[in-house]
Amino acid sequence: MNRKTIDLLCKQYRLNEEVVTYVNSKEKLIEDKFKNIDEIMEYNQYKVIKSMQDAKLTSTDFHWTTGYGYGDIGREKVEKIYSLIFNTEDALVRPLIASGTHALNLTLSGLLRPNDEFISITGSPYDTLLEAIGVKGNHKGTLLEYGVRYKEVPLVNNKIDVDRVINSIGENTKLLLIQRSTGYSNRRALSVEEIQNAIKSIKAYKEDIIIMVDNCYGEFTDRIEPTDVGADIMAGSLIKNPGGGLAYSGGYVVGKKELVEQVANRSTAPGIGKECGLTFGMTRNVLQGLFMAPHIVAEAVKGATLMGIVYKELGFEIVPDIDDVRSDIIQGIKLGTPERVVEFCKGIQSASAVDSYVIPTPWDMPGYENKVVMAAGGFVEGSSIELSADGPMRQPYYVYFQGGLTYEHCKLGVMMSLDNLYKNNLIERNKLII
Ligand SMILES: *Cc1c(COP(=O)(O)O)cnc(C)c1O
Repeated sequence: MNRKTIDLLCKQYRLNEEVVTYVNSKEKLIEDKFKNIDEIMEYNQYKVIKSMQDAKLTSTDFHWTTGYGYGDIGREKVEKIYSLIFNTEDALVRPLIASGTHALNLTLSGLLRPNDEFISITGSPYDTLLEAIGVKGNHKGTLLEYGVRYKEVPLVNNKIDVDRVINSIGENTKLLLIQRSTGYSNRRALSVEEIQNAIKSIKAYKEDIIIMVDNCYGEFTDRIEPTDVGADIMAGSLIKNPGGGLAYSGGYVVGKKELVEQVANRSTAPGIGKECGLTFGMTRNVLQGLFMAPHIVAEAVKGATLMGIVYKELGFEIVPDIDDVRSDIIQGIKLGTPERVVEFCKGIQSASAVDSYVIPTPWDMPGYENKVVMAAGGFVEGSSIELSADGPMRQPYYVYFQGGLTYEHCKLGVMMSLDNLYKNNLIERNKLII
């Protein structure tokens, strides 16, 4: 880092020079990782552009209609492009899918009928999904209330326990759910290759079982996606990776035609399915974001790697570890105390371009089991492909860092989070000596 930049950071951002120097010194340790990230990014960039070309994307696709949205060409092109990128027969991509949880719940409730059983085969799923299923919380309209049956098979040594999964499959088991990403756990994300191996063995035992993947945070971190290796249906959020920071809202569901149709029927009405639904002029942002997504994801993965090495070198446990294959954009850090989690998030918030002066505090966020503290100063509210961090207020006090539309912004986040811990005496000062 140039001296002028160090001066700017120390004088205008009021960072301690030890912190800036420390982060710069650790950056050198991970530069070799960046080459691989760049190669994946380049591949995905060409994959995305080719899909847009093959769908014959044209400027008038960005126009939109009103009312029912019949003949909204842009909506149809978006869905065509998503199905090309994810190598699926069909796709449902809508701005009115409010979040990742909504996309996942829509998929589950579209596919499962009373007395059908589904098994989460990567242990306990994401917090918000537990409430939608009805295992946690006390809400109306959960899957359990509708008579769907549910169980979990935990991971063993961070791997899908294929033997136990196969033994757990009963007469009524219709669907298996795989969560690719870390979520709010302390396990690393599953690689697409690991997902592939599990699917192969399971399908060899029961070919017609539906494999569903929660792909949140995973998109474009590898050259292949779970739907390239046998997943039947997959869902995710547009304010994470595939929206590239430009989508205002939305979710996607991609997969086999017959399955996507059932989900679409649930999302509108049987008989209407995918044929209706206004895009509200979102097509341009959704597609420009998708165009940017491989690059943005690469920036975020580099940023996560920097965050990882800095805290690992300070003696914290990190997930994924530095040499693990990265299959999502999250860097988990076991900070060990609630104070560190909160001060870390304050540091990230203060590095934001938007709402940098806001002070995050733990709150009862809808759908989450414990209080959660969130640093989220995005151009799009709640967008976690932008620089963000969050931590549930529970043992063992992990913080999850993700996003950053540019590597430099991630790096500022690393420096400002560390500086805030340093200022609050939550990091031993002698540890920063290099
Ligand atoms: C983000 C996420 C979700 C969905 O969260 P929303 O906040 O509803 O978009 C689901 N599963 C995983 C693994 C996630 O990371």
